[in-house]
Amino acid sequence: MGKVLVVGAGGVSSVAVHKMAMNPEIFSEIHLASRTKSKCDDIAAEVKKRTGVAIATYGLDAMDVAATAALIRETGVSLVVNLALPYQDLALMDACLEAGVNYLDTANYEPEDEAKFEYSWQWAYQDKFKAAGLTAILGSGFDPGVTSVFATWLKKHKLDGIRQLDILDCNGGDNGLPFATNFNPEINIREVTAPARHWENGQWVESPAMSTKVPFDFPGVGEKNMYLMYHEELESLSTHNPEIERARFWMTFGDAYINHVTVLENVGMTSIQPVMHNGVEIIPLQFLKTVLPNPGDLGAKTVGKTCIGDIATGPAKDGSGEKTFYIYNICDHEECYAEVGSQAVAYTTGVPAMIGAAQVLLGNWTAPGVWNMEQLDPDHYMEMLNRHGLPWQVVELDAPAAF
Ligand code: NDP
Repeated sequence: MGKVLVVGAGGVSSVAVHKMAMNPEIFSEIHLASRTKSKCDDIAAEVKKRTGVAIATYGLDAMDVAATAALIRETGVSLVVNLALPYQDLALMDACLEAGVNYLDTANYEPEDEAKFEYSWQWAYQDKFKAAGLTAILGSGFDPGVTSVFATWLKKHKLDGIRQLDILDCNGGDNGLPFATNFNPEINIREVTAPARHWENGQWVESPAMSTKVPFDFPGVGEKNMYLMYHEELESLSTHNPEIERARFWMTFGDAYINHVTVLENVGMTSIQPVMHNGVEIIPLQFLKTVLPNPGDLGAKTVGKTCIGDIATGPAKDGSGEKTFYIYNICDHEECYAEVGSQAVAYTTGVPAMIGAAQVLLGNWTAPGVWNMEQLDPDHYMEMLNRHGLPWQVVELDAPAAF
């Protein structure tokens, strides 16, 4: 039993708050704060309608550390769940330290004026959280999040180590729109236009964005083209599993998505450098976010499934030589919408955020310090995935990934 403050009132937050309300024996009180209070009120009204649980709401600028710390003290929560944007991570970690509570997020810190994905800023908080006796959990979404827990579970139960790891993220959903991102468009486009990078033999290998395309037959979805990308968990997984020889991240995109992003990039609309427009300074990518569909509104329109998982190769625990396992979840957009009013991309992030928060409140993940998901015991988290809407399967493959 514990009290939680969720910050941010977008697509992911809506799912996480619904799922927290469905588990009142773990989340005894839920407080929801975001920049625009009316968005918190909308979520609270939906949650009340579906579950009968009342949620307290607040307007808050999470960049204001003193205001956040005051709200934490006023509400008496023991955990802050950061479902705002990656730009707010450090301010929210500071507020948690100031008010003496635990912290959890789903995406690593990014400076707003630089699309730079690395954990250095948040890892620098290790000593402060340790000294304060507080726990900070980084990246409890699906990827990062569940994909790292999958890798740790395989290492705990099936493999003595991981030699090769491929993370495969497929969204086989269709929302009928010519172009829409399935989570925050600004964060999504920053990610997909960054150069691809993977870990190989102790170093990073860089290639141009979207230059490596491979078809893959995804369980529950069928064949889709997936593209090699950089994704933040590659850094933490290769750091915390030094035996990994090669770690790669792949995401599927349709041809229409690639064409739109290419055109938008060519005309300068994905830039994060400020430009003057009619005497007002604007950032093209932020303006683009304003005109694109809100991912939180796509739920009712989206059909199809997601399939996200890991293919890992390494020495088998039973001494039978090298083995390869594929561990994945399949999630249906329409089923998510029926349950919590959101599409599967928000669902597959919001449910793991709730489960990570539950691990802290239940006392399973309480070591003081700053932790990535692969550093924590996976068993209860994996069991909760099965019970709370994201069941997983593990199959043995005949051979290591051949792509
Ligand atoms: P949204 O843009 O839908 O929601 C973000 C929310 O944060 C909005 O309600 C926004 O308020 C609020 N916010 C922004 N700035 C501030 C601020 N200064 N103070 C208070 N609130 C603020 O994003 P998503 O729900 O799609 O994504 C949420 C997070 O989840 C992101 O960090 C994203 O990167 C991460 N994510 C992680 C995934 C994973 O698998 N690990 C997958 C998908 C997303 P307002 O409405 O007023 O703008």
